[in-house]
Amino acid sequence: MKPSKFHYHAPATIGDAVGLLGAHADEAKVLAGGQSLVPMMSLRLATFGHLVDLNKVDGLAGIERSNGHVRIGALTRQATAEHDTTVASDVPMMAKALPHIGHFQIRNRGTVGGSIAHADPASELPAVALALDATLEAAGPGGERQIAAADFFEGTWQTALAEDEILTAVRFPVWGAASGFAVEEVARRHGDFAICGAVCGVELDGDAIVRAAIGLFGVGPTPVRSTLAEQALIAGGAGSDLADIARQAADPLDPSDDIHASGAYRKQIAAVVVRRALTKAIEEARS
Ligand SMILES: Cc1cc2nc3c(=O)[nH]c(=O)nc-3n(C[C@H](O)[C@H](O)[C@H](O)COP(=O)(O)OP(=O)(O)OC[C@H]3O[C@@H](n4cnc5c(N)ncnc54)[C@H](O)[C@@H]3O)c2cc1C
Repeated sequence: MKPSKFHYHAPATIGDAVGLLGAHADEAKVLAGGQSLVPMMSLRLATFGHLVDLNKVDGLAGIERSNGHVRIGALTRQATAEHDTTVASDVPMMAKALPHIGHFQIRNRGTVGGSIAHADPASELPAVALALDATLEAAGPGGERQIAAADFFEGTWQTALAEDEILTAVRFPVWGAASGFAVEEVARRHGDFAICGAVCGVELDGDAIVRAAIGLFGVGPTPVRSTLAEQALIAGGAGSDLADIARQAADPLDPSDDIHASGAYRKQIAAVVVRRALTKAIEEARS
């Protein structure tokens, strides 16, 4: 199938892009890598009269480190971030999550910001942003604003971005040297969206865990942060019973059944992937 007719706009500045979104309101949609939007339009699951292509907007791509943060421009391709040395050393959870996204052809076009703004509940990067307390930078008619990842994901494909706002960058805090990270997921085939996955990080001081992050995806309409399990892990330290911590992360979940898996199966898998990811993260932090 082909998409229904639409007007194509290629603004050169963020201001022009925001202006176009405002002018065409709910008829307009931002186009980034097109890896989710174009299939949805081609299958006529979504129809928009105006596409505002961000690919010619200056200054939306790039990766830089400053003041204890790594800032990734929204238009940075997933493949660029995957092979970037700053991301590998300073946001390892992100570097480990990226290869799980589809296939390399998709990551060559798909953008970091597109994945986060699309907010698919089975996506890796929204869970990474949530688990790492990322800050989302947005531009709209009123100027720029910053949104905490905890306030960003509102539902399946729904975020705190207004219709006339653009996600411009994502900022990740850099963790200390004695940290470890792991991403574990279960998918039917390589390249498929995960049935369920976990992103975990720990920062050690000897055997004490001074910081912990446990994020889950594929278990509800938004990514989930398991703060109670994080607190239990910090209280118990690196010698904690990880199967028990993982159960504490999975217990509050209530995933739905769908054509890919039952909710009960997803919940069971959630405990498995959290345990595996925490085991690897602690091993890495110790080494
Ligand atoms: C076969 C296949 C397998 C895939 N597997 C996975 C997977 O395993 N895991 C995974 O996470 N993803 C997967 N994807 C999706 C892929 O990661 C997409 O690249 C991503 O979801 C969207 O990024 P994009 O840049 O292509 O955005 P687009 O498709 O261009 O846009 C997606 C949505 O986000 C909005 N948007 C994009 N950028 C911005 C912005 N800067 N500001 C505001 N709104 C914006 C658009 O308006 C649109 O609504 C898969 C895709 C395909 C086709």
